[in-house]
Amino acid sequence: MSADPFVVVGGDAAGLSAASKFRRDAVDRDVIVFEKGRWISYAYCGMPYFIAGRIESLQDLLSLSPDEAEKRGIDLRRGHEVTAVRPDDGVVDVETVDGSFEQPYSELLVATGGRAVTGPFAVDLDGAFTLHNMDAAAAIDAYIASPSAYDFARVEGTPVDRKRVEYNASLSTPSTAAIIGGGYVGVEMAEALTDRGLDVHLFQRSGHVLPPFGKPVAERVEAELADKGVTVHTNTPVEQLVGEDRIEAVAFDGTELAVDLAIVGVGIRPNTELVSSTDIELGPGGAIRTDDYGQTNLPNVYAAGDCATATHVVTGEKTWLPLGLTANRNGRAIGSTVAGEPTPVGGIAGTAVVKAFEMECGRVGILDDEEAREAGFDPVRSTITAGSRSGYYPGATETDVTLVADRETGKLLGGSIVGADRAAVRINTLSTAVEAGMTVDELERLDLAYAPPFSPVWDPILVAAKVLNGRLEVSPDAKPE
Ligand SMILES: Cc1cc2nc3c(=O)[nH]c(=O)nc-3n(C[C@H](O)[C@H](O)[C@H](O)COP(=O)(O)OP(=O)(O)OC[C@H]3O[C@@H](n4cnc5c(N)ncnc54)[C@H](O)[C@@H]3O)c2cc1C
Repeated sequence: MSADPFVVVGGDAAGLSAASKFRRDAVDRDVIVFEKGRWISYAYCGMPYFIAGRIESLQDLLSLSPDEAEKRGIDLRRGHEVTAVRPDDGVVDVETVDGSFEQPYSELLVATGGRAVTGPFAVDLDGAFTLHNMDAAAAIDAYIASPSAYDFARVEGTPVDRKRVEYNASLSTPSTAAIIGGGYVGVEMAEALTDRGLDVHLFQRSGHVLPPFGKPVAERVEAELADKGVTVHTNTPVEQLVGEDRIEAVAFDGTELAVDLAIVGVGIRPNTELVSSTDIELGPGGAIRTDDYGQTNLPNVYAAGDCATATHVVTGEKTWLPLGLTANRNGRAIGSTVAGEPTPVGGIAGTAVVKAFEMECGRVGILDDEEAREAGFDPVRSTITAGSRSGYYPGATETDVTLVADRETGKLLGGSIVGADRAAVRINTLSTAVEAGMTVDELERLDLAYAPPFSPVWDPILVAAKVLNGRLEVSPDAKPE
């Protein structure tokens, strides 16, 4: 056995899942986690709800503390940035405020996550933010609060950048916000800022918000946003953030809208700089290409989480869909593999859920016709509206289900759900079906639960499967779509 440790770069979901699992399974070996920042094991996913004011303390978003990590036997080094990987020598270069050193590894996991893309936008203006770290969440929260009313208990017990919080808390309270980007972060932030009393404008460059969820979902989300007071500007690319020191306006379509808060949520890209001088293979989105075990093409070098590719269960192709479960699961599997128990990381189905106020949405698999055709399928789709519970039971609301299948095989390729009554969790039925490679016929025959408070006799998913099955059974020439 090599004397060198398992070295992990990145102290969040993927990195710490791997280190923890490895630590449990390989008790006689060492694991070092290098984290360049002060934060570890945090829940980015909770940040919009913290800003909304629904979560009292930023500390509630932290999971494993540095002490707990040490107690687990993980050699955690915060404030350590890995600047290069030298695979021929089996070492990484590490920089700290006290100087730099090289660290040999027997196996290496790159779990460096991603970073927010800022495009042409001047996010260094006061009042302009991206939301891709805990300090930004704290700063936005403080910026929204009125200077006399900000409660520092919101960030107590965390390694927050206190100066940045104090500075943002000292600025006058904003009243109008522009959110640039109608992806899931943009939609969640539209709700959060409205909850905080701001007048919110959401800008989306394409025709609809939440592009990966498809049009039937987007239309209901846009209606819900409008109903709750958010002005949704679709087909409206923002060109510029305007301001001297502080954000004053956003420029679009030859005009300007005065705002005093801007959130730029136009996407992320994987952090791969530390392997840029190696021959590592990259895949979709510029993420590090990995195999079924999370291994890269470099010997003993693995990658997981937002910086790595995954395999799509429908197409069998590499894809890049940076989400939380993938990071945790793939990290954990790699921890097992490196500890001596080869464990596949598993594929992903592209399952995602999001809510906008009362409207819940879910999506899975391939929804886009062009994407389906590129993968060699002949897509057929249908969208139905059905009740979420028995019609006579209080709380029943309309749920829209879209299913997409391959005409030739009847195989379910993807689906989406939207509705105000527990719609999002229903997507897990479709995720299971997509992962199992079911046909629409098999989906239609599933024995789904029924009782009036939960579902009509025919669950909306069964209704959708029945309708799509009807389409699949008639000749293609007879179909209107
Ligand atoms: C606002 C927001 C909401 C989200 N909501 C959801 C959701 O509802 N559901 C969902 O599934 N996903 C959600 N996500 C995505 C989810 O948070 C990520 O998929 C997950 O955090 C990825 O974990 P990771 O470990 O790969 O990367 P990260 O969490 O980005 O961690 C990577 C770590 O590596 C460190 N690092 C980077 N480079 C170096 C280096 N060179 N040396 C040392 N350390 C380094 C970084 O400082 C960072 O701590 C959300 C993300 C955001 C921003």
